[in-house]
Amino acid sequence: MKPVAPEKLLEIELADADMTARAGGVLASLARPGDILALWGDLGAGKTTLACGFIAALVPAQEAVPSPTFTLVQTYPADIDGQAVEIWHFDLYRLKTAEEAYEVGIEEAFAEGISLIEWPERLGSLLPRRRLDVTLSPLGSGDSRWLTIAGNGDWAGRLAGFRSALLGE
Ligand code: ADP
Ligand code: MG
Repeated sequence: MKPVAPEKLLEIELADADMTARAGGVLASLARPGDILALWGDLGAGKTTLACGFIAALVPAQEAVPSPTFTLVQTYPADIDGQAVEIWHFDLYRLKTAEEAYEVGIEEAFAEGISLIEWPERLGSLLPRRRLDVTLSPLGSGDSRWLTIAGNGDWAGRLAGFRSALLGE
């Protein structure tokens, strides 16, 4: 079967780290169990900042969100419309083998949880097609980042209100 390229759904400038975190919060408001968000971008692009905003929106009691850099994954219990769901925040920068990915639980995460994946390129062919691609790129030398979101399936409809939610329009 021919692979279906993710369709570009939106692009927007994020003026500062706070806006990137809020973009994460808006994505969290659209999230459902089984969602997989691949967070693309170089070191310092803002992937963790966006993930923290996402987690903070669904796990309000969580005060500090530790970066999972040294553990590969950190999980958080969340509640979506009364349904318990685990958020899995992966940082796969140090992932070496596919086997390691199974050891940290990708199968369970992809099946039932909500997965936020930094350095998704490390998964190679284990990265599911059924995902949302969230890409952060630096824009000039200041705090601005360019956010691109691409996905298939029902994501186009789910993201319809993203821009106005983020910009407060
Ligand atoms: P990554 O996980 O992609 O390596 P981080 O989120 O850990 O990136 O770090 C991004 C750094 O850049 C933080 O120090 C953050 O304060 C800073 N920053 C400046 N502007 C932005 C922005 N618009 N979005 C995200 N982070 C920003
Ligand atoms: Mg990071």
